[in-house]
Amino acid sequence: MKSEISTLLADIKEQILYLQELGAENFSVELPEISFSANSKAQSLKTEVSPERLERFVPTEFDLPKLETAKPKAAGAENASTRQSLLEATKLSRLPSLPKRNSFSTNQKTEPAREIEMPKTIIDETPPLFGDFKPTLGESNETIEEIRLDIGNCVRCPLHEGRTKIVHTTGNFNADLLFVGEAPGANEDAEGVPFVGRAGELLNKIIQSIGLRREDVLVGNVNRCRPPGNRTPTLPEAHTCRPFLKREIAVVKPKVIVVLGNTATQNLLDTKVGITKLRGEFQDYFGISVMPTFHPAYLLRDPSKKREVWEDMKKVRDFLNNGTPST
Ligand code: SF4
Repeated sequence: MKSEISTLLADIKEQILYLQELGAENFSVELPEISFSANSKAQSLKTEVSPERLERFVPTEFDLPKLETAKPKAAGAENASTRQSLLEATKLSRLPSLPKRNSFSTNQKTEPAREIEMPKTIIDETPPLFGDFKPTLGESNETIEEIRLDIGNCVRCPLHEGRTKIVHTTGNFNADLLFVGEAPGANEDAEGVPFVGRAGELLNKIIQSIGLRREDVLVGNVNRCRPPGNRTPTLPEAHTCRPFLKREIAVVKPKVIVVLGNTATQNLLDTKVGITKLRGEFQDYFGISVMPTFHPAYLLRDPSKKREVWEDMKKVRDFLNNGTPST
């Protein structure tokens, strides 16, 4: 009988604690200290159980064994530790919900929410190629004007800091032929037009050599802002700006792209192979034929290379005329 009453009292206590642990923090029940000493037993039980019921379960002559002397309630911290030790001692602490709740104890420091870092640049993640699979650009449902609007007053890469004007792709947006350079130089930066100055004049002659005019073709760069001191754009700078060109190519769908110089070739085609190995052979850019050749500025420094550019341009001309690369 004694042990049954002890178990009953402990269970009542546990259930109240459990309800509070489940969130019923305002559950206004005074929790008496569980004491099994003979002297304090009736006192504490009277706060919970009516005298009639108490008599039914706890005869007055009954002497419960003195298991533990109840300590007087003192500070709140002591109550909390008593409550915690009670929880740990009972089967309730083994219920799945309690360990979970305990992990969110108010005593435990919670980590402040971490800010999600948004990328400041667009990174062009060109998927790697497997085997002979060649991805194509697919159908574009945007316009050149929409791409320009998206570029806006672009500050996506550090090159914006030193530019005077953004140098966009210009020319005939229905063209079959697109020329792509590395980045604007001083003249282009001042005018906002690609390939002006001496290199631009030489490019115009190269275009004319295959029977076309500058206004028949499209001309642009991988990077639209001038690098300080005409340095080579870094790979992240190129990868940040390249998607704009890629989107324009998807809209225009030229038959051939002539890519000018080592940096432009490597940045457009995502390759580490140098221009001297790649030039003269058609490469693939998402289903579009690409002819790498020397940059006009390089030809100004080394005119002996004009011959090779002429050979490359004859292949481009034949491709445009016949629809397939000449052998
Ligand atoms: S180079 Fe391209 S990505 Fe960088 S700031 Fe200019 S337009 Fe933007």
